[in-house]
Amino acid sequence: ASTWSAVPAGPPDPILGVTEAFKADKDPRKINLGVGAYRDENGKPYVLPSVKKAEELITAAKGDKEYLPITGLSDYTKLAAKLAYGPDSKPLHENRIAITQSISGTGALRIGGAFLARHYPHSKVIYLPKPSWGNHTPIFRDSGLEVRGYRYFDKETVGLDFAGLKEDLLAAPEKAIVLLHACAHNPTGIDPTAEQWKEISDIVKEKQLFPFFDMAYQGFASGSTTKDAFAVRHFVEQGHQIALSQSFAKNMGLYGERVGAFSLTTESPEEKARVDSQLKIVIRPMYSNPPIHGARIAGTILGSSELYPQWEAEVKGMADRIISMRDSLYNSLTHNLKTPGEWGHIKSQIGMFSFTGLTPPQTKALAEKAHVYMTADGRISMAGLNSGNIDYFAESVNKAVR
Ligand code: PMP
Repeated sequence: ASTWSAVPAGPPDPILGVTEAFKADKDPRKINLGVGAYRDENGKPYVLPSVKKAEELITAAKGDKEYLPITGLSDYTKLAAKLAYGPDSKPLHENRIAITQSISGTGALRIGGAFLARHYPHSKVIYLPKPSWGNHTPIFRDSGLEVRGYRYFDKETVGLDFAGLKEDLLAAPEKAIVLLHACAHNPTGIDPTAEQWKEISDIVKEKQLFPFFDMAYQGFASGSTTKDAFAVRHFVEQGHQIALSQSFAKNMGLYGERVGAFSLTTESPEEKARVDSQLKIVIRPMYSNPPIHGARIAGTILGSSELYPQWEAEVKGMADRIISMRDSLYNSLTHNLKTPGEWGHIKSQIGMFSFTGLTPPQTKALAEKAHVYMTADGRISMAGLNSGNIDYFAESVNKAVR
């Protein structure tokens, strides 16, 4: 018998499976709202003009292709830390943020999981919001942490279950790790308000929980990289030590370049140096060192007085287009089509995704009858909508819920 005859077939990835079904559909009206990648007004992938310019500068500089250090391009990671923690951040100025380049956000989360599994001195339990990005559970489980959940989404209001969230964090064991989506919560599109973040910070302090922020959408939620960093910066100001995962997949459109960073705030430069040394020991046997091209792009943009403001405007352009699609969809459903149900959440949700409240049978019917594809939980990528397909989408939803 073959060595692998007992290997069972695994289930297909629930999100990438949507794309497969979409590709196989030949209807010209078909729409893919499954995948979390930005699309422009014509439904096409978007390479940011600031990224193209940065690439021209990189080509002109005729750099070599030598290996990066284990923790990556420091010109890039320094600027990534400044973007997340803010130019006035105390730990940044006091040189006590340990940071490493990572294989985008996923790699940052995995390095963080592995580092915590090895060095976190307390309960190795991580609490994730229910629901959370589908990859969080396997990432942290495979890193060696025990995964549990805290309430987040309220089906009744299609909003935040803030009372449930607080109860669950207060009931968690002391010093447990808690994963927080810094902004643009995936998949729900529902973020705590600034006031609610302050309360969460107080609970985290009271219970001595360890906050691990996943910031995959800085700038993409509100259009402002500063506004979207509120939670991270507030926690740091409140004296929390945090872990942070960053990704430039969405906000720079660098998806396939895999540009991210993982950081930990520490107490002193001396402690930072010890933590840095252990980050290297975690990373070296995983992949030795990270890829160079995307880090050069992000570093060039973040470090250029010309490209940085251009990029900020481009991020805002993407966020604004998504926000305008939310308004159009809401207006079509509520005012034009008088679709039964309450659709205010389409407008109040933020970021790439919207949790529509559509049920699995409705999403199935949308795929089969209208050629509209989304994940079975009713999550749609707002970026897949544009002025050419939004009316057809609204009409299809209208039919599906009646
Ligand atoms: N965290 C969240 C919440 C995400 O939505 C994503 C992207 N889907 C990621 C992390 C990581 O993505 P990437 O590895 O492409 O940066």
